[in-house]
Amino acid sequence: MTTPTLRSPNTVLANAVEDAVDVLRPSIVDSGIESIGFSVGTQINGHPHLGTHLVQSLAFLLAERARDEFGIETTVDFCALDNSPAETIRADGRRYQRAYVHSLSADEITALVSQHYLPLFDACRARTNVPYTVSTYTQQQETPAFRAEFLRTLELLDEIGTWLSPHSGSAHIRLPCPACGWAEKYADRTRLLELDDAGGLFEAVCFEHGRYEADVTPLGGGYLDLATLYRNVVKERSFRPDDRTLHVMVKGGDWAFGCQLVDGAHAALGMPAGPLPTRIFTPQILGSDGGKLSKSLLREAAEAGLVEADATPAWLLDPSSWPGTQEDYIEALTGLGELVLSDPRHFFRSYTTTALEALMSTRRPATHNSQAKRPRTMPIYRQYFDLIASGEKTVEVRVAYESMKRIKVGDLINFTCRDLSCLTQVKRVGRYRTFKEMFGTERVEAVNPKATEDEQLEAIHAIFPPHKEALGVLTFEIERVDPS
Ligand SMILES: [Zn+2]
Repeated sequence: MTTPTLRSPNTVLANAVEDAVDVLRPSIVDSGIESIGFSVGTQINGHPHLGTHLVQSLAFLLAERARDEFGIETTVDFCALDNSPAETIRADGRRYQRAYVHSLSADEITALVSQHYLPLFDACRARTNVPYTVSTYTQQQETPAFRAEFLRTLELLDEIGTWLSPHSGSAHIRLPCPACGWAEKYADRTRLLELDDAGGLFEAVCFEHGRYEADVTPLGGGYLDLATLYRNVVKERSFRPDDRTLHVMVKGGDWAFGCQLVDGAHAALGMPAGPLPTRIFTPQILGSDGGKLSKSLLREAAEAGLVEADATPAWLLDPSSWPGTQEDYIEALTGLGELVLSDPRHFFRSYTTTALEALMSTRRPATHNSQAKRPRTMPIYRQYFDLIASGEKTVEVRVAYESMKRIKVGDLINFTCRDLSCLTQVKRVGRYRTFKEMFGTERVEAVNPKATEDEQLEAIHAIFPPHKEALGVLTFEIERVDPS
């Protein structure tokens, strides 16, 4: 059985991997990594559109897949970018902006995050059993790690300025006026006066309060608002050198272009103390002309009479207008995420709004069926997939992670390998303390008819270190189900 509604061409990257999470494998093998943190940042400017929710739900699904594939605990770390501009004005012949954090109260920021994102995160956590954390950019820029890393970049400000702002050559460092929170958008009158081991002394000008100074140190010195590329350079360099965590930045596909400049700045600065994170770019959502889905662009085009105002379904731009319950929306969204993750060719590509509408709409009716019978997807290597499909392998072995412990007799498991899938039903669940104990009960040839017990144990122990085996071992006796 193949996915009937989606065909994707091969690409250079899709051709090189079996599964999208394979791009993480080189950073994991022989690295001593003990956990993976998937970071996803979102500008909190009003209603998120579908693209934002898709990146976020894919972060959870990638974390689930990586955990089950590599046997490493994973988290999703969400950062609400409350430094996005809320207001802009023109004064003194210059543009000034004030960020959400300075326009709204802390309670209002919390309410924005709770309303627009937490229902999706909670549903994704329940579905994937991946825990998540929520923080704001404001909290991030307050940390000594972030500020110290920023101060280190100042020694090479001219070199990185060329990368972060290739036209002007000066990277924008916005230090909002301590009296009113407004800052020059392009920071053209912000100057670094002194730089020493203790910190950096800046001067800047406010249209209302005149000249002011900011003495930025690792522990304080006022709010630090960096232009997007600069913020990413500092954030990527500020992970602790000693944590045995692989950090993965999950970003919308349009970032693939911008990271060229981020990487140039990293090269100019030299290797940081800690490891640089890995990045995964998620599918872009495109309008009919191939441009990135954008609320403001669509509104302008409609006002100019270039497109029909209702050409794009409202729910793509504002998920609260989805024609169904919020649960249905989240179900369709995560179903879409699982579909694009089922084959790297579906993942490393873009989707038009028309294609997405069709893919999500076809998933809508299914959500009204009983949730209990929704198959669980389990990616598996080709050699094992073929043995399951041929009916030779009838027992699947897994480490007893929390997500695995929820599988019970009667559940459906859909084993997948690229665009192949094989639907099975669980007939029996076995629980053991060790792999060795498991082979005392389970038939060796039902687990793998092609290898002896000793060979299988050796392979299993090479993959799972003792602290993973200590979680316990689960076996699922499975039987093929004909899709009907
Ligand atoms: Zn001011």
